[in-house]
Amino acid sequence: MLGSMAKWLRILGYDAKYVKDMEDEEIARIAREEKRILLTRDKKLASKCKNSVYLENNGLREQLKKLIKEIGLEINEKNLLTRCIICNERVEKIEKEKVRGKVPEHVYENHDEFYICPKCKRIYWIGTHFENMKKFIESIKLN
Ligand SMILES: [Zn+2]
Repeated sequence: MLGSMAKWLRILGYDAKYVKDMEDEEIARIAREEKRILLTRDKKLASKCKNSVYLENNGLREQLKKLIKEIGLEINEKNLLTRCIICNERVEKIEKEKVRGKVPEHVYENHDEFYICPKCKRIYWIGTHFENMKKFIESIKLN
């Protein structure tokens, strides 16, 4: 239920594992063994895991605010877009010439910094969607 939250955490540079269709005990075990904080919309599951945060269904903004307050989630601009939003891998810088033909022409012409996910080969750059995310993040920080 927190798939979009996982994506947001990755945008913020956090190592966010997302699981579904898994038994509670298994999820709690993974969280414990990998020293993760469990984020869940499931009260029962949250009660089974010591290091967990129960999130209400009150929208991304409120959920992120709760994480800032309860676990000290940091919104650090220099960590933004360091992870693949889809597979959680750390992205690597890639030379501009190498992405020619792999990104839209106007993107290639207007940007100089590109990053690639070593796993899914998705290419990232700081474009308008990134600016919009930054605005959203700033608005959370302000109130
Ligand atoms: Zn990837």
